[in-house]
Amino acid sequence: MQKESDGSKGKKRKFVVVAGSLMSGLGKGIVTSSVGKILQSHNLKVVPLKFDGYLNVDCGTMNPYRHGEVFVLDDGTECDMDLGTYERFLNVNLNKSNSLTGGKIFSLVIDKERKGGYLGYDVQFVPHLTNEIKKWVKGVGDSFDADVVMVEVGGTVGDLENGYFLEAMRQMSFEEEVLFVQLTYVPTLEALGEQKTKPTQHANRLLASLGINPKVVICREVEPLSKEARKKIALYCNVDEDAIIDDPDTDTIYGVPELFEKQRLCATILEKLGVKTNGSDLKEWNKLVHSIRHPGEVATIGITGKYTALKDAYVSIKEALVHAGAHCDVGVKIKWVETTEIEDGKLLVSALDECDGIIVPGGFGARGSEGKIKCINYARKNGIPFLGLCFGLQMAVVEWARNECGMTGANSTEIDADTHYPVIDLLPEQKSVKDKGATMRLGAYPCKIKKGTKTFQAYGKEEVSERHRHRFEVNPELAGKLEEKGLVLSGKSPDGKIVEMIEWPEGFGIATQAHPEFKSRLEKPAPLFQAFLQAVKEKKKKK
Ligand code: GLN
Repeated sequence: MQKESDGSKGKKRKFVVVAGSLMSGLGKGIVTSSVGKILQSHNLKVVPLKFDGYLNVDCGTMNPYRHGEVFVLDDGTECDMDLGTYERFLNVNLNKSNSLTGGKIFSLVIDKERKGGYLGYDVQFVPHLTNEIKKWVKGVGDSFDADVVMVEVGGTVGDLENGYFLEAMRQMSFEEEVLFVQLTYVPTLEALGEQKTKPTQHANRLLASLGINPKVVICREVEPLSKEARKKIALYCNVDEDAIIDDPDTDTIYGVPELFEKQRLCATILEKLGVKTNGSDLKEWNKLVHSIRHPGEVATIGITGKYTALKDAYVSIKEALVHAGAHCDVGVKIKWVETTEIEDGKLLVSALDECDGIIVPGGFGARGSEGKIKCINYARKNGIPFLGLCFGLQMAVVEWARNECGMTGANSTEIDADTHYPVIDLLPEQKSVKDKGATMRLGAYPCKIKKGTKTFQAYGKEEVSERHRHRFEVNPELAGKLEEKGLVLSGKSPDGKIVEMIEWPEGFGIATQAHPEFKSRLEKPAPLFQAFLQAVKEKKKKK
């Protein structure tokens, strides 16, 4: 896109604001990312920003069981999992500025007030808070030098929590070029076999009462809209018929950009924003989507964990498998293994029998840990490819210590503070930490990979960087003992002090203290996930 050089570039920048109406769970993050992707495919620099109304400063203290996965960015920001969706679709690295919460903006205003930043004034939602929000949103555009800032408003229109944010966006629409997108749900009354648009009309009116008039309406539904339903929405919501977009359930979220493109959504948005481009190119992306849909073979991957009731708790792992699978022609069927149910060992074989590979993901606390150790041992003894992620590495170290080094009762001090063999222990800098928010070892850290290892083979280089979120580590005092018995310490921090990755001497078993799933994108899968699926594939061939 042509940028102006007369200093009025801010005017040229476009803002697309996605607001969800009627109910949560409609997939605002996927819609925002997909719209971002099609705009990006027109060679525009797209930057996403998520607003969340809750008063937490970040997601770090939230329970993934209640809220879904806590996603981690390079700079250590613990944020909403939508940021993960943005990164996975847009293949960009985001930072703390891309996530704005109620807690963050209120802290900023209150801190500023204490410092005399609003001296003489009574500090109000309008204009003080809304000004800070606008400044933030525009600042993100500036710092990324974006052509388009995609703003996703968390929650639902009508919520108390996001009202002030929507008000800020309304104000901004008179200062900048802003296009509002309403995401809505169109139910079908089965008895009548008819799609009902009235909820959407009411929600649109609610937005209008806030001074917001969406120019695009995206409809979640079971079947594409009927002609009548489309006409009604157009009439009552003041939108062009071709700006009403179908978003029915789909087999893969990565197919949504193409679904939107087929309805010429991007052309509609670009026209409304007055942007001319030289056309789009989604070919490579669509090729990958095709591989997701038509894999050469399907593998069953067991993922152990205690949050298996809520799949959102492990969304990055699920997606990392999809990405790696698209690149090595494997479709992945996930088998969730509730480790608390196999602690006594009885149901272990039936739980893992059909698994072609096993992943032990991150976790906290004792519950289910013995079951995870059993799964790892089963994988190792039966030559099933294994990938351990963070807590998964810690449990793999415990398993090795107990079964190969004769360290009976070895454990992590997180689980057993009095263990005789504390093979996993608190990181030294964690010992004095009292606060819970943003105090773990967070964000991207460099790691040096040992040449000649399978880990090295996976990355193909010595220096790598992965994202972290933990308080414990392999106890440096006992690491040597593990190594003596053959465990390969395949990755360490550049100063050699922290064990970052390990691998089994036999078979495919790699574990990392990091969360490589956080850096996996459809266009750039995580090397360890790819190596893992490749090992799964080879193992299946031998079966
Ligand atoms: N509970 C472990 C730690 O704090 C592992 C954390 C995780 O898996 N993210 O070190």
